[in-house]
Parts: sequence; structure tokens; C-alpha cells
Amino acid sequence: MNCLFCKIIEKKIPSKIVYEDERVLAFEDINPQSPVHILVIPKKHISTALEIKDEDNELIGYMFQVANKIAKGKNIAERGFRLVLNCNHEAGQTVFHIHLHLLGGRVMHWPPG
Ligand code: AMP
Ligand code: ZN
Repeated sequence: MNCLFCKIIEKKIPSKIVYEDERVLAFEDINPQSPVHILVIPKKHISTALEIKDEDNELIGYMFQVANKIAKGKNIAERGFRLVLNCNHEAGQTVFHIHLHLLGGRVMHWPPG
């Protein structure tokens, strides 16, 4: 399997890691769209949101908890932040290993582009 984010997990490709434990990794997006733009990924390879199984439910919830912890650490929790998970091409998914975008540090617009 040729997965960019699995290679980041394995440290075969460098990244700016902001959080890591046995289940998840969080690192800075290489092309940030806001002052804070961090990707939270499961260490288990799941290609799209459509592939999430019952057995992954706790892991997916845990990704949100990690994102919350990072948002608090970056002092954007009270101001507000956005969590985005793009699924498949029309949503703009380009890396097929699920990732939560944690975006913050500026006012977000709605609807998204
Ligand atoms: P998506 O378009 O939702 O699949 O998001 C993929 C994200 O991965 C984009 O925001 C990219 O900027 C980011 N990205 C791609 N390659 C890297 C990399 N090597 N390190 C960090 N972020 C990356
Ligand atoms: Zn992967």
C-alpha cells in the first residue's frame, strides 16, 4: 500500500508532529489554510469515512478528543475552531487515509467553498 500518511506514521516521511500516542498522530498541514491547521489521523489505515467500521467507533471519537486537546493547547478552543473530514473527490479528499483537519486562529466562513 502506497499511503502518504502511513509513511508519515512510520516516520519515513518527515512531519511536524504536535501529538502522538499509540492510536493517533497529529501533525501540521504542509499547506496551512489558517494560522492553526493540524491534521489528526488514526494510526490504523482507514481510506475514507465510508470505510469506518463498528470496531472503529471508539477510535473515531478519540480523534475528536485529541483534536479538542490540541485546540485547547493552541488557545483556540474558546474562540472557536473547525473540524473537517473530506470524503472522496467532490469534497476535495486528496489523501486516502482519513484525517481530521483542525482549523483555527481566524474567522471561518460558511458555507465552505
Ligand atoms: P484532503 O484534501 O482533505 O485529503 O487533505 C489532505 C491534506 O494533506 C492537505 O491539506 C494537504 O496540504 C496535506 N498534506 C499533503 N501532504 C502532506 C505532508 N507531507 N505533510 C503534511 N500535510 C500534507
Ligand atoms: Zn494510510
